[in-house]
Amino acid sequence: GMPSAPPPVLAPRRPTRKIKVGKVEVGGDAPISVQSMTTTPTTDINATLQQIAELTATGCDIVRVACPSQDDADALPAIAKKSQIPVIADIHFQPKYVYAAIDAGCAAVRVNPGNIRKFDDQVKQIARAAKDAGVSIRIGVNAGSLDKRLLDKYGKPTAEALVESAVWEASLFEEHDFHDFKISVKHNDPVVMVRAYEMLSERGDWPLHLGVTEAGPAFQGTIKSSVAFGALLSQGIGDTIRVSLSAPPVEEVKVGNQILQSLNLKPRKLEIVSCPSCGRAQVDVYTLAEEVTAGLEGLEVPLRVAVMGCVVNGPGEAREADLGVASGNGKGQIFVKGEVIKTVPESQIVETLLDEAMRIAEEMGEP
Ligand code: SF4
Repeated sequence: GMPSAPPPVLAPRRPTRKIKVGKVEVGGDAPISVQSMTTTPTTDINATLQQIAELTATGCDIVRVACPSQDDADALPAIAKKSQIPVIADIHFQPKYVYAAIDAGCAAVRVNPGNIRKFDDQVKQIARAAKDAGVSIRIGVNAGSLDKRLLDKYGKPTAEALVESAVWEASLFEEHDFHDFKISVKHNDPVVMVRAYEMLSERGDWPLHLGVTEAGPAFQGTIKSSVAFGALLSQGIGDTIRVSLSAPPVEEVKVGNQILQSLNLKPRKLEIVSCPSCGRAQVDVYTLAEEVTAGLEGLEVPLRVAVMGCVVNGPGEAREADLGVASGNGKGQIFVKGEVIKTVPESQIVETLLDEAMRIAEEMGEP
C-alpha cells in the first residue's frame, strides 16, 4: 500500500552530537534508545548473560553492568563478548577499572564526576585510551554522589549544582579533545531532574541520557519516570533513557519502551485501547481487557485492539482500531479494519478476538 506519513511528535528532537555505544548510535537523528542495568552479581557471568538475553528479548538496546571490584572487572571480557547488545561498565571510583573495561571490549564506560577528582590528572589518559579503543563515555552526575565542592557551594544537589558538575566534567574531557561522551544529571525529584536537563541542554550539544534516580518501586517509579521523561521528551530533550525501578530490569525496559511509544518516538507495537468502563458498561471490561492483553502478550506486530464496554464510544473506537469489540446486550460486535465481521455471545468475545488477532498477525508476517 501507500507508505503512511510518520506519526506526529510533540516537538522536533533538539540537535545533539551523535556518538556510538558499540553498534548503537546515541544522539543526533538516532532513535532514542532504551537502557537498563543488570542486577546479577557481575562476577556471575552466566546469570548476567542470561539476564542480558532477557533484556534484549524485551527490547533493551544497551545494558549496563556494575564494576565495583577487580573480580567484576575480570568478568567483563566474557560478558562484553557474548552480550547481544552493547555493554557499558558502570564505574564510580577507580580509574584502573576504566582501563580494564576498555580492554575488556565494553562499548562504553560510565564514570561519576563526583568521584573523578581523585583521578583528575588521569582524564587525559582515560580520554586517550577510550579514543584509541573507540569506546564512548557517559558522564553520570548523580545527586546522591555530587562533588563535595559543589555540595558546599550550593548546600544541596540543586539543578544548578548538577549542571555545574556535568559541564565542568565535560570540559575536562573536551580539553583533551575527547567528544565521544553523553551526560546524565540524575535526581530522585522529577522537578529538579527536569530543570537540570533543561538547563544542561542549553549549555551544549552533548547527547543526554535521561534518568530519575532511585525512582522507587514499580508503581511510583513508573509514574515518576514517565512524568519526568514526558516533560523532557515533549521538548525534544533526551537521546537515550533508563527507567530506574526497584523491580526486575525487564520491567524497566517495558516501561521505557512504552514511554517512547506513547510519544510516537518509537513505532507502536501491540496496543490495547480499552475503555475505563462506567455505569453504561454491559460487559466486564476489566476482565475482558486483561484476558485479551494476556492472550496477546509477546505478539510483535503493530496491532491496535479496541475493547469497549458499550455501544456509546464502542463502535467508533472499535472501527478505528485494526480489531475490536463493541459490547452490548450480552453480545459483542467484532470489528476488523472498520467492518463488523460477526456478532458473538459474550462468552466467545475473547477467543474470537484472539483468533482474529493471530490471523491478522500472520498476514502481517509474524512468524
Ligand atoms: Fe462507559 Fe461505554 Fe465509554 Fe466504556 S465505552 S467507558 S462502557 S460509555
